[in-house]
Amino acid sequence: MRLKKWGGRREVKGKALVKPGSVLIASLIAVSSSVVLATPAQAYSHLCGRFFGVGEGGAISYRYYSITPTYQKAFGDAQGRWDKTSPNSPGHFSKQQTNSDPMVEVRDGSYTWDAWATASWQGCGPYGHWSYNETYVKFNSRTMANLTAREKKIVATHEIGHTYGLAHVSTGCGGAGPAVMRQGQGKFSCGSDGPWSDDIKGARAKYLAS
Ligand SMILES: [Zn+2]
Repeated sequence: MRLKKWGGRREVKGKALVKPGSVLIASLIAVSSSVVLATPAQAYSHLCGRFFGVGEGGAISYRYYSITPTYQKAFGDAQGRWDKTSPNSPGHFSKQQTNSDPMVEVRDGSYTWDAWATASWQGCGPYGHWSYNETYVKFNSRTMANLTAREKKIVATHEIGHTYGLAHVSTGCGGAGPAVMRQGQGKFSCGSDGPWSDDIKGARAKYLAS
């Protein structure tokens, strides 16, 4: 897991509450070396936060800001993948046209950083919710250019997992895996597209009693 400070969010306009110091988690391109790890029955791990009001079927609002059709499709397909797992995964995604305060802000750009994409947030409140109930997803059109449409969708599914509050796992395709929250390209060849059982278990553990 790579955590670093994201200095400033000046590109977000009209948000009095936005401040620098957001926490950012990046999907690394680097594929970790092949290490055989003991695989626990469940591998999911959690970030500090989660959405407020998303338990038994609540809406997760998202809105596209500056984004090209390629990455709109990647994110749109990915949220559809998560929704298809409902009611096993918490809440449902709701696309907003005008909501100025969505729970997930989605955009793309050609960025200098090396990751495929990032998910970020502004901290976590005392009850384990995302500050301001907001998260931000950015796709790097420069580093993702050579990924197939399917792979872009899987990257988007991974970023959505972060917005749910899921951290990275290191499972392979077998054992407790596969998991869309695994970093790198290995998950692309696990069959199907995710989210997989471990991802859904992780989201359920975050939001639902069982
Ligand atoms: Zn990640």
